Amino acid sequence: MENPLQFKDLGLDNRLLKNLAHYDFKQATEIQKIAIPVAIAGKDVLASSKTGSGKTLAFLLPTLHKALKTKAFSAKDPRAIILLPTRELAKQVYGELRVMLGGLSYTGTLITGGENFNDQVKALSRHPRFIVATPGRLADHLEHRSLFLDGVDTLILDEADRMLDLGFAPQLRHIHKAAKHRRRQTLMFSATLDHAEVNDIAAEMLNDPRRISVGVSNEQHKDIRQRFYLCDHLDHKEALLDRVLNDADYRQVIIFTATRADTERLTEKLNEKKLKAVALSGSLNQAQRNTIMSQFERTVFKILVTTDVASRGLDIANVTHVINFDMPKHTEEYVHRVGRTGRAGNKGDAISLVGPKDWDSFKRVEAFLQQDIQFDELEGLTGKFKGLKPRQPVRKDQGQAKSVKSQAKKVAKKPVKRDKSFYQNVAVGDNVFIPKKKVAPKVDEE
Ligand code: ADP
Ligand code: MG
Repeated sequence: MENPLQFKDLGLDNRLLKNLAHYDFKQATEIQKIAIPVAIAGKDVLASSKTGSGKTLAFLLPTLHKALKTKAFSAKDPRAIILLPTRELAKQVYGELRVMLGGLSYTGTLITGGENFNDQVKALSRHPRFIVATPGRLADHLEHRSLFLDGVDTLILDEADRMLDLGFAPQLRHIHKAAKHRRRQTLMFSATLDHAEVNDIAAEMLNDPRRISVGVSNEQHKDIRQRFYLCDHLDHKEALLDRVLNDADYRQVIIFTATRADTERLTEKLNEKKLKAVALSGSLNQAQRNTIMSQFERTVFKILVTTDVASRGLDIANVTHVINFDMPKHTEEYVHRVGRTGRAGNKGDAISLVGPKDWDSFKRVEAFLQQDIQFDELEGLTGKFKGLKPRQPVRKDQGQAKSVKSQAKKVAKKPVKRDKSFYQNVAVGDNVFIPKKKVAPKVDEE
């Protein structure tokens, strides 16, 4: 039998192998086996592999290896910039970076929103060699000239698609331009990279990249058991949630809701029932967010109720269950949310509650996963809702006048709800501009 590839076979510097001893694994995961040698060879990389498959080390190890083996372009500028969509994720990756920097003479720093700007200016004036950051705040520092990126030899975008979803394209471009030179290497990673916007930014930022894809993003994750329940309304959802939590032999659970307000409401309800739950949302200040995450990691709370602010990247060992109390608006977030469990070879459970309001999102997830999803039922909790009929497509052969009329009738019956940005974008006498999607408030993610 072929020997499993170990980290020591990947040509990594011995000092990194020594630091890897901090972990109890020796064998590289599939994405690490493929991406590390390609990145060491200096190629740009556009890589995807399933959640929990060790992408962080797949980009950290070759980046540090390069720093150990080659001379820096500049005496002061950072050598590597690692960008992530959320503060919590940046913090986690920074933690892994610190482990890998153990015993080396390099320094690293964490630059995220929500922290004191001047403290960060001070930290940057000490010329850290590795920076883990969220894009908004890093771009602010560029603007403020607290750092320069001319000497960057590696730029890494983790969860690149999410950063784009959150509207960070301008900041990413700004950072890219500031660090633009012929010898820069760029690495992009995510579990879901097949979106048009990612291709555009990859075409701009990557130079003849090697595409690495381990499995496909919509492939069933074999370590995550996925179940779906139909629900009639909110009370029904809550009854199902109670039952699921009661029946599940969980260690820790992450429950995803649609909005910040929902996280708070649901957390209160769970606490009334003496379940130890805590809410994490972008409306809290950073100190509160840090405290909550650290308490959850130490299992002070068994249940974390949150929004998509926590859907990406977070690696928390005890999460045995993920519950979609509401289905996600962005389809790929389904893959990322359920990927908070079943990580690094462990098993996990994902449960989704699908009410009438979730139906469209559910159908998109079903199409994305290319599965014919069957619903499960819980005794005594079967509702009436069985899904919505697909909308009738407008037939081409319908007369123009008729179709306009029928549409007008529809509008009169049910006014179309628009978000605020719709009205803000309407200028008198101008063409009406309808934003394709609502840009999430930055404060939620940065
Ligand atoms: P991803 O970014 O692909 O979702 P992470 O980098 O967060 O995954 O890694 C998920 C978990 O797997 C982490 O706890 C990490 O320590 C662990 N891990 C990383 N590499 C390996 C490996 N080679 N073997 C076993 N576990 C690993
Ligand atoms: Mg990751």
